[in-house]
Amino acid sequence: MANKYFDAKTLGFYLKYINNLSEVMSKPYYADHDMESMDMFIQSVNDFADKELFPYFQEMDEQPCHFKDGKIVVHPQVEKIMKQGGELGIIAASVPFEEGGLQMPYMVYTAATFILDAANNHLPGYAGLTLGAADLILNFGDEDLKTTYTPNMLAGEWAGTMCLTEPQAGSSLSDITTSAKPNDDGSYNIKGQKIFISGGDHEYLDNFVHLVLARVEGAPVGTKGISLFVVPKNRIEDDNSLISNDVQTAGDFQKLGQRGYCTTHLIFGEKDNCKGWIVGQENKGLKYMFLMMNAARIAVGRGAAGIVSAGYFASLEYANERKQGRKLNDQGKKNSAEEQTLITNHPDVRRMLMHQKTIAEGSLNLILLTSKYADLSKTAEEVEERERYKLLLELLTPITKTYPSEMGLQAISNGVQVLGGYGFCSEYILQQYYRDIRIFSIYEGTTGIQSLDLLGRKVLMQNGAALSHLMNEFNVTLKAAKTQNSLVAYADKLESKIQLAQKVIGHLAGFAQQGAFLKFTADANLFMEFFSHILLGWMWLDTASKACKALESNDSGYSQEFLESKIKLMQFFFKYELSKTSSLAESLMDDKTITLPTGVDAIAD
Ligand SMILES: Cc1cc2nc3c(=O)[nH]c(=O)nc-3n(C[C@H](O)[C@H](O)[C@H](O)COP(=O)(O)OP(=O)(O)OC[C@H]3O[C@@H](n4cnc5c(N)ncnc54)[C@H](O)[C@@H]3O)c2cc1C
Repeated sequence: MANKYFDAKTLGFYLKYINNLSEVMSKPYYADHDMESMDMFIQSVNDFADKELFPYFQEMDEQPCHFKDGKIVVHPQVEKIMKQGGELGIIAASVPFEEGGLQMPYMVYTAATFILDAANNHLPGYAGLTLGAADLILNFGDEDLKTTYTPNMLAGEWAGTMCLTEPQAGSSLSDITTSAKPNDDGSYNIKGQKIFISGGDHEYLDNFVHLVLARVEGAPVGTKGISLFVVPKNRIEDDNSLISNDVQTAGDFQKLGQRGYCTTHLIFGEKDNCKGWIVGQENKGLKYMFLMMNAARIAVGRGAAGIVSAGYFASLEYANERKQGRKLNDQGKKNSAEEQTLITNHPDVRRMLMHQKTIAEGSLNLILLTSKYADLSKTAEEVEERERYKLLLELLTPITKTYPSEMGLQAISNGVQVLGGYGFCSEYILQQYYRDIRIFSIYEGTTGIQSLDLLGRKVLMQNGAALSHLMNEFNVTLKAAKTQNSLVAYADKLESKIQLAQKVIGHLAGFAQQGAFLKFTADANLFMEFFSHILLGWMWLDTASKACKALESNDSGYSQEFLESKIKLMQFFFKYELSKTSSLAESLMDDKTITLPTGVDAIAD
C-alpha cells in the first residue's frame, strides 16, 4: 500500500481557489457556518479515513462480502462507516437543519466524501446511499415516513438502499414488474425481485430502508406506471419493536472489484407479507427516484475521482523508488557503466504519471464544480440564477458520472503500467484499483445510457438553454485567459474546439429534426467523450488562468512551483487529451450508419 491517497493542498486549491467555496458560503442559507468550521469538518473526515478506512482497503478485497447461512457477511468496518461516520455527520452533512441535518454546502460534503472514496472505495457507498434514500423521503415523503425513518438513517443506525434493477429490467426501467397492491390501511403489498442492490443487507444494522420502484395493479405500461415505495426490511410495531417485513436476501453477487461493498439479491413478499408505503403519488415514482439517481451519479463520479487520486499516489511512490535502465542523452546514447536511473526520468513514464494526475485533478475539479452548481441551484438569490444553475447541473450530471469513470479506467491502466510486471501482481495495490474502478462506468446508468441522456436530452433541452449557459461560462474564461500572454494560444485552441462542438451538435441535431432519432444518437457514446474533453479543456484553461493570476499577485498562499505545476498539467491536457476531439469529431460527422441494426449484419456470427 502507498502511504498517501490524496493531497489536502490540491483538494483545498480546487475547492476554495478554483471553485470559490466562499461564493457559496456567502449565501444566507449557510450563515451558521464559516470557512474554519468547514475546514474542521473536512479534517475530521480525513482523520476518520486515515484511521478507519485506508488501513482496511486491501483486507476488504481479500475477505470479500459473501452469503452464508441466509445472511450477508461483510467486513466489520461497515459498522464503523455507518455508526461512527453517522456521528461525524458524513450522512447528514448537506441535509437542512430542520430535517435533522447539518446544512453544509454540498461542495463541502463532496470534498469530504472524496477523501473517503480515495481512502477506501468499498465503504462510502453504504453511507452515501443512506443519505440519498433519506433525502428522497425528506423531499417527497409524508410526515409519517419522514419521522419514522429518516432520524435513524441520518444517524447511521439504519441503512437506505435504492431498489430499481430487476433481472429483466436494468437500463430499461420501463420493464420493471415488481407489483404493489393497495391495502385498506394505506399500505401496499409488495411482491417481486430486485437484483444488484448495493448495501442491501448485513448483520451490523437493525434495519434497511429500501426505496423500491414497483407498479400498482392496473397502472399504465412503461415509466408512466411506476410508483415508489418505502419498504423496510423490518416493520415497526406500535411499541417500536421491529418485526420481519418478508424481505428475503437470496444472495450476494461475487464481483471483479469493490468486493467489500455487498451487492445483494432481494426477494420481496415471497410469503405475501411484505408491506410498502408509497412516497408521493402513484405513478410518479420515477420522477421522485431521479432525485436519488442524480445525486448518486455525482457520487459515482466522485468515487472514480477518488480512486484515480489514490492510484496516482501509489504509482508515484513506486516510480520514485524504482530504478531501471539509463538516461539517454540528447543524441539518444546511454552509458551502461552508469548507475541505473529512476524510471521517473523516462519521458514515457512521466507521460503516464502526468496522465494519471491530469485525470485525477480534472475529475476532482469537475465533481466540485457540479456540486457548486447543485448548491447555487438552491441558494442563489434570484429565481433566474437558480434556474440557470439548475440547467447547468442537469447538463453536467451525466458527464460528471462518466468522465471520471471512463477516463479514470485509462488513468489507472497507466498506473498499472508504471509498475511494469509488478503492476499485475497482487502484492501491489494498483491491480485492486484497476478492478475496483471498472464498475463505475456500469452502475447508476451505463456510459451508453448517460451518453443518450447527454446528447438525446440535455444538450437540446429547452431549445439548448443549458448549452447556451455553458457557452457563456466558456466565454468568461476565454476572455480572462486572453489577458494572459502565455495563455492566448491555449485560449485560441479552446475557442476553435468550442466552434467545432457547435458544428458537431448542429450536424447531429439535423438528424433529430428529420425524426431520424436512431441516427442522431447512434454515436452518443463518442459524443460524450468528445464533449467532455472540451468541457475539461475549459476547466483546465480556467485553472491555468487563475494560477497565472495567483502567480502575478503573489498572495494566494500557494507556492510558485505548485501553481506552475497546474499550468503544466493544462498544457499536458491540451497536447494529449484535448487533441483527441479532432478524430472524435471526424467520426461524429461521418454519416455512414455502420452500427444501425439495418442492412448487412456484421455481428450475426
Ligand atoms: C456492483 C453493482 C451494483 C449495483 N447497485 C445497484 C443498486 O444499488 N440498485 C439498483 O437498482 N441497481 C444497481 N445495479 C444495477 C445497475 O444499475 C445495472 O447493472 C445497470 O444499470 C445496467 O443494467 P443491466 O446490468 O441490466 O445491463 P443492460 O441494461 O442489459 O445493458 C447491457 C448493455 O446494453 C447497453 N444498453 C442497454 N440499453 C441500451 C439502450 N437503450 N441504448 C444503448 N445501449 C443500451 C448498456 O449500456 C450495456 O452496455 C448495480 C449493478 C452492479 C453490477
